[in-house]
Amino acid sequence: MRHVIIGAGPAGVTAAETLRRADPAGSVTLIEGEGEIPYARMAIPYLLAGKIRETGLRIRPGEDHYRNLGIDVVGGRVRSVDPGASQVLLEGGRALAYDRLLVATGSRPTLQRIPGIDLPGVHTCWTLEDARDLLRKAGPGTRVVQMGAGFVGCIIMQGLVSLRVDLTILVRSGRMVSRMMNPPSSALIRRWCESKGVKIRVETLPGAITAENGHLGVHLPGGEVLPADLYLCLVGVKPAVEFLAGTGVQVDSGILVDAGMATSVPGIYAAGDAAEFVDVVTGERSVNAIQPNAVEQGRIAALNMAGRRAASRGTFPFNVLDTLGLKSSSFGAWQGLPGGDSVEVSDPDRYRYLKLEFLGDRLVGANAVGHTDHIGVVRGLIEGRVRLGPWKERLRKNPTQLMEAYLACAQKA
Ligand SMILES: Cc1cc2nc3c(=O)[nH]c(=O)nc-3n(C[C@H](O)[C@H](O)[C@H](O)COP(=O)(O)OP(=O)(O)OC[C@H]3O[C@@H](n4cnc5c(N)ncnc54)[C@H](O)[C@@H]3O)c2cc1C
Repeated sequence: MRHVIIGAGPAGVTAAETLRRADPAGSVTLIEGEGEIPYARMAIPYLLAGKIRETGLRIRPGEDHYRNLGIDVVGGRVRSVDPGASQVLLEGGRALAYDRLLVATGSRPTLQRIPGIDLPGVHTCWTLEDARDLLRKAGPGTRVVQMGAGFVGCIIMQGLVSLRVDLTILVRSGRMVSRMMNPPSSALIRRWCESKGVKIRVETLPGAITAENGHLGVHLPGGEVLPADLYLCLVGVKPAVEFLAGTGVQVDSGILVDAGMATSVPGIYAAGDAAEFVDVVTGERSVNAIQPNAVEQGRIAALNMAGRRAASRGTFPFNVLDTLGLKSSSFGAWQGLPGGDSVEVSDPDRYRYLKLEFLGDRLVGANAVGHTDHIGVVRGLIEGRVRLGPWKERLRKNPTQLMEAYLACAQKA
């Protein structure tokens, strides 16, 4: 059996290793599209902060790891897939035949469509090469205007602060990390970041960027122009799946997959940030763009490609964020579910906040700032769909008793 994997991120690498074990006689080809030794994007902020070297980003330490396992790593960008001929075509013309194909190409950043977005000095930070470029250009006092304060934006902010740049963050919506934190949590995170010297402007979307004498001008509504040396555009991502056009593989916000990670075209699978599957809590389809999800889906896809049976129970959305030392987290249906109820405790002076969302006597979501001790327990209660019984009322009286609730309810479930 010829297994071909497009994309050498966490999903692709996990799939390649799993295939090697599950189908020892088959060939495994891993297509790497950036000219790098396979690496994990989530380590980029540590590189920016000077906490690790480039080798620390590698998913597996040794360069010869893949060769030793009999995994053939092929460098190149995929231009198209021909399911009729069971072939992948690379830029440059090389064709690779497959019996089973995995698409694990993740996503790519979107750029704002404003005048000046293609000027030198305008960057994004998604790849290792982007990070190298930033490290070459940013240092103490560099004026950086960062557009976007989502999950990735906040993580990159941490790296930029470590570089001691003069940082202004623009947020299109009214609040930071609006897709993972509710308004009270966001407000705490914003106040914390401002106390660390980051300038933050909400409800602000530049209309244009201009350049003069090597410096940028970021044009805000109302006529104000922010001077900048670098403009960092971190406004969102889209699945990197253009090469699937015409294949019949169905794509919405990601490639639609079933519980075995199979796409709508026989023999073609998808996993990781490129794939869209059902959320185990809400039952709705979404892309769950976190590394643990990519690893798990890569594993499940590979087992099915090798003829074994493996199924996902659904993706579990959770994010844990460290913004300049303040830890926050969101789990499951953190915005609540229709018919549900919630409880919250807040201690804004100490940057502490906790909100629990219930549906009946089950915990379905949570937002937390400054509470780090219950992360595993919250996940276990939500993902395990644990019935809380009388413990729900106890949690409503004291939401911090999560560990006690877990021990009382999950262990007997
Ligand atoms: C700065 C940053 C910080 C992050 N921090 C965290 C974190 O703290 N925790 C967490 O869980 N997640 C984090 N993430 C998200 C996490 O990195 C992703 O969820 C994860 O990388 C997804 O893995 P993947 O294998 O699906 O895709 P990717 O890691 O994106 O890998 C996709 C691979 O496909 C390749 N590719 C794409 N198109 C083609 C093509 N046409 N031809 C050939 N190859 C192609 C790419 O070059 C890449 O090698 C972070 C992401 C970023 C950018």
